Amino acid sequence: SADEVLAKRKAFLGPSLFHYYNKPLNIVEGKMQYLYDDSGKRYLDAFAGIVTVSCGHCHPEILNAITDQSKLLQHATTIYLNHTIADFAEALASKMPANLKVVYFVNSGSEANDLAMMMARLYTGNLGMISLRNAYHGGSSSTLGLTALNTWKYPIPEGHVHHVMNPDPYHGAFGADATGYANDVQDHINYGTSGNVAGFIAETIQGVGGAVELAPGYLKLVYDIIHKAGGVCIADEVQTGFGRTGSHYWGFETQGVIPDIVTMAKGIGNGLPLGAVITTPEIASVMARKIQFNTFGGNPVCSSGGLAVLRVLDKEKRQAHCHEVGSHMLERLRSLMHRHEIIGNVRGRGLMVGVELVTDRKAKTPAKAETGVVFEKLRELGILVGKGGLNGNVFRIKPPMCFTKDDADFLVDALDYSLSKL
Ligand code: PMP
Repeated sequence: SADEVLAKRKAFLGPSLFHYYNKPLNIVEGKMQYLYDDSGKRYLDAFAGIVTVSCGHCHPEILNAITDQSKLLQHATTIYLNHTIADFAEALASKMPANLKVVYFVNSGSEANDLAMMMARLYTGNLGMISLRNAYHGGSSSTLGLTALNTWKYPIPEGHVHHVMNPDPYHGAFGADATGYANDVQDHINYGTSGNVAGFIAETIQGVGGAVELAPGYLKLVYDIIHKAGGVCIADEVQTGFGRTGSHYWGFETQGVIPDIVTMAKGIGNGLPLGAVITTPEIASVMARKIQFNTFGGNPVCSSGGLAVLRVLDKEKRQAHCHEVGSHMLERLRSLMHRHEIIGNVRGRGLMVGVELVTDRKAKTPAKAETGVVFEKLRELGILVGKGGLNGNVFRIKPPMCFTKDDADFLVDALDYSLSKL
């Protein structure tokens, strides 16, 4: 029962764990865009295990791939040859711009960003890293330095990390004008790093921070500034990759840039612990033997699962589907703004959507308590969404990519109803 799980969790798991709902939800089964609790109640999952289940819970083709591979070989490490990791690397590289073709496999987003930071520093010989405020890049002791959320109370362990102004069109001081924010990057380089720049990292749409799209043109300006200063540019595609934005396969394409290093995790494995870093041969050349090794990275089970994810996303045309369903949902959510003064902002792309609630549209005062009430109401109605943003007042709607138009309508209607009950 939920009570027994909760008691065990309290007794044997760390107190840093938290759960989302007033009455903790005990999930026992998942099928495509649905989750089931211990009473058999079905929920429409609009958060995909924190934007991770890309193809759908227990997608049959992925299940078959990992089951078959598990029976054959689960683990041997890269000290021996095995075709699964090579096949997967080739398939992933084929999804990248031409010069990004060297793949490193890891087990999580934090590991991927940690490795990317290491590459940037080794390649440039510099230490300074620049990341955006409101960014999430990981929870390891190194990546926590890059993460810049006001809710994380860990003192930054990393020296040489600079958090620049967030180019957030809704909250940022310069609105959607990318130049003002880009100037702040130049200022940090001039006065903060004294020119000692290893790399710049940004999510191409901020995820945990509340589906924040960067001001148009921002990455183009900043990549140019960083390259001129001798640094490399890292795109964190942990949430945005694999067609979720609908308009493009990778989030960086929405800003018309090509990064030097791309990191990915979450959706790449549909729930398997898997991450990757992809870079150029030139940057990879500094990663000599004994600088990097990963026991589990790209193990046969994860590689065959990851390969199946790529295959399924292509076969089921999920990028186009995200565009179609996401555009429909965004339009309907925006029209709710006429009926509910509390909706301050609707944003995002494809199936990466944020709805921010405010008590005063002009002052953009966070409607934190109201967000909590509606969040609970949605659960009652059988819909699970995410919560986030700078002040915890943003609904994050990022379902498995098999989410349909009907699902989107159900979610919008339920949100409409829940807001009218406030
Ligand atoms: N980057 C981004 C953009 C993320 O959203 C996350 C996880 N929320 C991470 C990195 C870290 O990934 P993981 O939890 O797999 O270490």
